[in-house]
Amino acid sequence: MSKYHVNEKGYYGPFGGAYVPEMLYPNVEELQKKYREIMREERFQQEFQELLKDYVGRPSPLYLAKRLSARYGANIFLKREDLNHTGAHKINNTIGQILLAERLGKKRIIAETGAGQHGVATATVCALKGLECVVYMGEIDIQRQAPNVARMKMMGATVVAAQSGSKTLKDATNEALRDWINNPVDTHYIIGSVVGPHPYPDLVARFQSIISEETKKQLVEKTGSSLPDYVLACVGGGSNAAGMFYHFLEDEQVQLIAVEAAGHGVDSGESAATTALGKEGVLHGSRSILMQTDDGQVVEPYSISAGLDYPGIGPQHAWLYKSGRGKYVSITDEEAMQAGLLLTKLEGIIPAIESAHAIAYLEKMKFQGKENVVICLSGRGDKDLDNYMKYFGF
Ligand SMILES: *Cc1c(COP(=O)(O)O)cnc(C)c1O
Repeated sequence: MSKYHVNEKGYYGPFGGAYVPEMLYPNVEELQKKYREIMREERFQQEFQELLKDYVGRPSPLYLAKRLSARYGANIFLKREDLNHTGAHKINNTIGQILLAERLGKKRIIAETGAGQHGVATATVCALKGLECVVYMGEIDIQRQAPNVARMKMMGATVVAAQSGSKTLKDATNEALRDWINNPVDTHYIIGSVVGPHPYPDLVARFQSIISEETKKQLVEKTGSSLPDYVLACVGGGSNAAGMFYHFLEDEQVQLIAVEAAGHGVDSGESAATTALGKEGVLHGSRSILMQTDDGQVVEPYSISAGLDYPGIGPQHAWLYKSGRGKYVSITDEEAMQAGLLLTKLEGIIPAIESAHAIAYLEKMKFQGKENVVICLSGRGDKDLDNYMKYFGF
């Protein structure tokens, strides 16, 4: 494994590790000891690949967006994760983790969710496998995200309201961790991004790495080379970006660009631009870069897109940023919304507002005319229609 991947101790450079309360050691240790071995098993890989194909609908197309390309003067390819079952990349990870949970002999699944996207992806695979599913969600998010709560309930999940603190994602995460401490033997905790204690960041990145694995093959067919000039993805916790970058990490000639949410602007006090504003520290069980006050209190993040509204980034991203392998930039609400509308008008594709952040960065790039650019279209915009309607007054 290269210097950009996790080492034997669970670190990426100075980032990563497993900073968890002693009561969680057994759960985390069990995963650390077994995850690679299980993922290597032929039967595991067979079932994973089969579900990705027949249930998720993979491989997702790599689409050359001709009108978008003409506008910017480069060959712009969209990796269509928006076409997956449930509408985003998140299902790649939950499929992988439910198979892992089965092989660990777990009977019960828990998850945390903010806007509900990861909760839905988790409830989906629990229905698929007939496993009990409990999703923790902040009371305020439950009120804001009624359709996703309904989806989870239809699939048989129990949605538990987190009533403490700001009653949002952070509090839901705390409740989920408490549940896991109380149910160490029969329960697996499905984390939704490349965050959390080791081995989660590596585990989730490996399940999402199918994105770049497919992309390389598709690029050979379409361009004659597996290597593009640029690869772009939006970053909340960083799972779609980690999957999109994974098989390009050692190809140093490929520029990796990660797009964070600047909200109302990096200096507005309402943003989620972690690398621009953050400092090193520990969040949700690993050492990374996070937005915090001088005395170490986590700053409440803001973005118009719920999926990017997170105060940190996964430890591998912190390392790609610090080592210079990746370029970390940010895009405001306004820029992202305009890019979402532009893609819709030029290509007939309504992107998730998260993904629109990656599209928006094209405006800031300079091309000679021949560059090949791959953008991860992490999700579809159906879930964001209310937001688009309010913003543009449709
Ligand atoms: C959840 C989500 C994201 C952000 O999560 P990452 O872990 O950073 O990928 C991005 N896009 C969509 C469509 C999402 O649902």
